[in-house]
Amino acid sequence: MAHHRARTYRRNSALLTPDFTRRDLEYATTPEALSRGQEPAPHVEDVDWDEYSLWGGLPGEEIGLGELLVHYAGRRLTGECPCPDGSATELCAHMTALAWAVLGDDTALVDRLTTLPHADLVALAVDVAGRSALARQVIWTRLAR
Ligand SMILES: [Zn+2]
Repeated sequence: MAHHRARTYRRNSALLTPDFTRRDLEYATTPEALSRGQEPAPHVEDVDWDEYSLWGGLPGEEIGLGELLVHYAGRRLTGECPCPDGSATELCAHMTALAWAVLGDDTALVDRLTTLPHADLVALAVDVAGRSALARQVIWTRLAR
């Protein structure tokens, strides 16, 4: 993991989007940690990422920048955290907080999408289908019902 730490301070979040989803997060943690991570998510500071990892700090939990990481390059999300749960197989609540801070909260997404004009929503769905084979399949499956 040492090379991850060495790379973590290169700020390039404007250049790429971390390639992981809410479903990846659900697979990598417990329902309890998934839920417990939502409250501190807005308090994660200095959130940034590169092509391998996300990082941030949770000063309220005395977790400094560089101590809290989630690695998303592998098949399953893994992470680093100094807390007692930090070495468990499943992501701890602090790691899920960091992941939530990057993913954003679905409630906020629902609120924004609800205000979008229908034509814009259609254009958005077509755009997403054009970017991802899985998204295209999910959309067509939903439309077939
Ligand atoms: Zn932790």
